[in-house]
Amino acid sequence: MNIDLKPMLRGEITRLPIDFPIEPEAPYGVSFDGDVRVVGEITNQGGYMRLTATAEIPYSGVCARCLSEVNGLYTMPFERTVVTEGTLTEEQEEDNVDEYVILQNGMLDIDDSVREALILTFPMRLLCDEDCPGLCPKCGKALRDGACGCTTKEVDPRWAVLASLKFDEEEDSGDGK
Ligand SMILES: [Zn+2]
Ligand SMILES: [Zn+2]
Repeated sequence: MNIDLKPMLRGEITRLPIDFPIEPEAPYGVSFDGDVRVVGEITNQGGYMRLTATAEIPYSGVCARCLSEVNGLYTMPFERTVVTEGTLTEEQEEDNVDEYVILQNGMLDIDDSVREALILTFPMRLLCDEDCPGLCPKCGKALRDGACGCTTKEVDPRWAVLASLKFDEEEDSGDGK
C-alpha cells in the first residue's frame, strides 16, 4: 500500500496513523492464514520521520518435535526511520535495510520491507510448547498427550546375551582351575 506522506513533508501534519493489510509471503513450511495487518503511526519531529508499527499475521504449521499442528498469531514490531529518496547512498540503503524506509515522490511503500522482515524474523522451528517432549522413539506417539505405555528403560538385547555368557563362564570356573 502506498502511503501519501506529502502533507507531512509540507508540514501540514506531524502524525499519521496507519492501519492496512499486506498480502504476505510465508516462510517455508508455514502457512499464513490471511493478510498481515500493519498498525501504527508515522511521526515527524523536526524533520525526523519515524515509522512505528506492529505487523500481525495468523499462522499455522507443525511442531518441530511432535509434528502436531501449531496455530498462532505472530506479532512483529516494525520500526524504521523514513528518509526521502537520495538522502542515503545506495550502499547505505543496502547496509541498513532494517533501519530505513525510503520515500519516493512523497509516497511510502513498505509492503516489501514488511514481507522481508517477516520471513527473516519468523521462528525457524515452531514448537507446540517450549517443553514439548516430542515423540516416543518406540511407538511414535506424541508424548504431550500422555505416556504411551512403552517401557523407556528397556534392556538392550545385546546385553541380555552377554549376561547369559557371563553366567555360563562363572558356572564353568566353579570348581577351580
Ligand atoms: Zn510438540
Ligand atoms: Zn511409545
